[in-house]
Amino acid sequence: MHSLWSDAAANDMVAHYARAGVSRDVALRVYTSRLLGGDPRLVLHGGGNTSVKTELCDLLDTPAEVLCVKGSGWDMGNIEPAGLPAVRLDPLRRLREREALSDEDMVRIQRANLLDPSAPNPSVETLLHAFLPHKFIDHTHATAVLSLADQPDAAARCAELYGSSVGIVPYIMPGFLLARKAAEVYEADPSVEGLVLLKHGVFSFAETARGAYERMIAIVTRAEDHLAGGRRNVFVPASLPVSLASAVEIAPIVRGACALTDMASEGLYKRFVLDFRTGAAIRNFVDGAELVRYGLAGVATPDHTIRTKNYPCIVPAPEAGRLVAFAKGACEAVEKYVADYHAYFARHNAVSPVKKRELDPMPRVVVVPGVGLFGLGRSAKDAAIAADLAESWVTTVTDAEAAGRFESLNEADLFEMEYWSLEQAKLGGAVEKPLAGQVALVTGGAGTIGRATAHLMKGAGAEIALLDRPGEALDAAAKGLGALALAGDVTNDDDVRAAFDRLVARFGGVDIVVANAGAAWQGRIGEVDDKILRDSFELNFFAHQRVAQHAVRIMLQQGTGGCLLFNVSKQALNPGADFGPYGIPKAATLALMRQYALDYGGSNIRANAVNADRIRGGLLTPEMIAARSRARGVSEAEYMGGNLLRREVTADDVARSFLHLALARNTTAAIDTVDGGNIAAAPR
Ligand code: ZN
Repeated sequence: MHSLWSDAAANDMVAHYARAGVSRDVALRVYTSRLLGGDPRLVLHGGGNTSVKTELCDLLDTPAEVLCVKGSGWDMGNIEPAGLPAVRLDPLRRLREREALSDEDMVRIQRANLLDPSAPNPSVETLLHAFLPHKFIDHTHATAVLSLADQPDAAARCAELYGSSVGIVPYIMPGFLLARKAAEVYEADPSVEGLVLLKHGVFSFAETARGAYERMIAIVTRAEDHLAGGRRNVFVPASLPVSLASAVEIAPIVRGACALTDMASEGLYKRFVLDFRTGAAIRNFVDGAELVRYGLAGVATPDHTIRTKNYPCIVPAPEAGRLVAFAKGACEAVEKYVADYHAYFARHNAVSPVKKRELDPMPRVVVVPGVGLFGLGRSAKDAAIAADLAESWVTTVTDAEAAGRFESLNEADLFEMEYWSLEQAKLGGAVEKPLAGQVALVTGGAGTIGRATAHLMKGAGAEIALLDRPGEALDAAAKGLGALALAGDVTNDDDVRAAFDRLVARFGGVDIVVANAGAAWQGRIGEVDDKILRDSFELNFFAHQRVAQHAVRIMLQQGTGGCLLFNVSKQALNPGADFGPYGIPKAATLALMRQYALDYGGSNIRANAVNADRIRGGLLTPEMIAARSRARGVSEAEYMGGNLLRREVTADDVARSFLHLALARNTTAAIDTVDGGNIAAAPR
């Protein structure tokens, strides 16, 4: 690991922030915090923290000696001055004299001494920064240091490697007591350049930003060099099936096994989004014969517990062509995981001075020998965080096992951390959105109705994939939504299969499909060319069937129901003259919806349709609107509002209808009409 310090970059940052009135000390604190936060070998996703002791003016322009320390909810990789709330230093230092301090009082005292009352909560490790005298203090959970600090004889190993240059602090949960202990270790030998916190991480400190940062790099590099010396192909492989199923084949099964039945949620299940990872290092780890020993040993640093739980769920290796057996094994593994979790909670809650509320018992990491690992989360972002932490944990455990034996915290310490009120607060208490954890695919996703529908479903918490013909429109729509772009032709079976494979590879499965792609063909039915009718059937009927078939295949593997939504048209109910080539396949698609509702209701897969009419930007082009209003002798506005309610119906109205049907958990085989009122098209 090399120092990335650059005088030029540091000076640029100082100059940049000076224009916003930010002091040199704080600007440099931002600079090296970002250097540390940009390297996943040092910190990941809000882990670690940094501080600087400086003088700032309070709101009354009175200078005050403060500690600017990383605020809760900020990531070091992209921290701003606002992410380093300033706390009056003297009151923090005076806390050192106390014998005990509750977490609640610690947080209140820290908040009460913020210069700006609207600042975020200072880090839970604020007192540790305050009790040490150095101007700049850096703290990371460096992977390499943890490989040494997570060992049964970690203290001796670290002492041997670092000599007297680094102090060793035994494991204590973050907070007041750890802060006091760290200060005592430092004071016993003030010549140390840093502290290794056993089973937790590492601190470095100095009078300058560069000094503290480069001491961190030096401490971590020393650990890396030491580990590289002992490197070998660590894990002896287990005997696995010769031919293994792929991640795409097993993801829906894993996803289904990890969903919780939840009658209170819209989908009747609490589902997770999956993020798959593999590669040589992960395979060496997950394929190992002793996976159960080191794989269930615990987290690399306690702060990962809230994202990954204490250990992953290990499912059997999936043999190709034997997915039913895999599904059975996976379900049993998850059931055992859940039962063990309940027992763990009960065991420790019984002796906890404050009674806790049990969290959901589902794993956040699933390890699959022969394949790789999945991170699980209620959103794609949370799944990626779990997967990133799992990957980093794999590195730590692998290196620890190469050098000795990986050892995590004991179960009581893990429980204390998982159920620590200050850690729970990091996850936020926000109410979850109704489609959280669900994955929605929208065909015709680059069109007006597709985009509007995807936008609403995203807002309701679903992860979104857009399937449409390749091109700028699709890329722009996906980018704007943060959705997965699936380029393909819905009338081509290979394209649709490939799109579903990519969808499953990205999110682990699918729960909602909006079969929306369509186009209008015209012709008087007695005279129309056969080819026109067949082309229209390909897009307006068979593409819906093809998409629904793939969706149902995956939904049945998940075993958690699902929702099929079809965009039928007014033409399906109230044919227009010369629109047979469009209306007839749409009528068939209406029948298709009912057939899916009938055949798959028993599997909790719902099927519904939206009957929309006269949507600008849908199938109606500006030329068509002009021609039709001319033909009727009315203005365009009168034409578009030619319904009982006398107002134009929009793509957003159609999108709301799709969202409503996605949430209507006891509605299937229904047609929702979105046309402003047209008695001739009313279902009868
Ligand atoms: Zn820490």
